[in-house]
Amino acid sequence: MKSDSLRRLASDFKTFLAAQDEDEFISAAAPSRAAAVVSSEPAQDCARPPQMPEGETLTVEFPRAKAREAARASAGRPSVPVQDVPVFDGAAAPEPLEAVMTAAEKTAALAELAQTIQNCSRCPLGATRIKAVPGEGNVDADVMFVGEGPGFEEDRQGRPFVGRAGQLLDKMIAAMGLKREEVFIANIAKCHPMTDPLHPEKHGNDRAPNAGEIACCRKYIEKQISIICPKYVVALGGVSAKALISDAKSLGALRGKFYDLRLDSVSLPRPVKILATFHPAALLRNPGWKKDAWIDLQMVMAELGLKGAK
Ligand code: URA
Repeated sequence: MKSDSLRRLASDFKTFLAAQDEDEFISAAAPSRAAAVVSSEPAQDCARPPQMPEGETLTVEFPRAKAREAARASAGRPSVPVQDVPVFDGAAAPEPLEAVMTAAEKTAALAELAQTIQNCSRCPLGATRIKAVPGEGNVDADVMFVGEGPGFEEDRQGRPFVGRAGQLLDKMIAAMGLKREEVFIANIAKCHPMTDPLHPEKHGNDRAPNAGEIACCRKYIEKQISIICPKYVVALGGVSAKALISDAKSLGALRGKFYDLRLDSVSLPRPVKILATFHPAALLRNPGWKKDAWIDLQMVMAELGLKGAK
């Protein structure tokens, strides 16, 4: 027999997995975290969700996935079941990490995680992706860039930020005086979110991951950050910033200051700061914002003593 608190938490969890947009998700999922975010306390002290019994599972219904399943069935395509999501496995007691790992340990841990991501079907994106995109880069990076989710090109190559937005990200990294190979690049969602998943061959079919997809994928980016343990995470765009800072404010309101990064599912071996800036795709659409993005990146450069491109 489940306890009342388990029932209440299961119901909250269902609510935020069913949320159709991110703001709905943040207010359903993280009100206490949102309030606790801007502080100078060490990241490890953040309030944790209650520990949940292990082994419970919860069947999560994705309304849009249901519609897609119906479309697949009427088109005579085979059904693709979505895995049950283990209840609160992102909210169970955080895994303790005693110390920053060695580079070899990080490489092994990230490779194992990447394998898990390649096999993941926790949300419907697993059924429509071509390739999962775990992320790539220097396992000992001081700076980690986190975007929202793979696009058309990334889905085909299995690598993050390799399309037009990626070319601009490479230039932003170079302007900071770094090389792409010196940083780590990943996304919140590891599989390509499409507006029309029945036609993955279409261009212009990208969308941001929704609240349920972010909830399913969150533990992967959290684990990656805890393994790499960079000094700074740069959240690219509002989706990434809101998810990682756990604050529903607009990107404009979140930019301009460092936050102590707080993770739900793992602890950090040392404090990590996070800064939000514009997504390179937004900068391609609005080149006038580049000067503000540059101000953000210079904040990270100042902290790390980087002088910029020579
Ligand atoms: N946009 C993202 O957020 N991530 C990518 O990897 C590519 C485009």
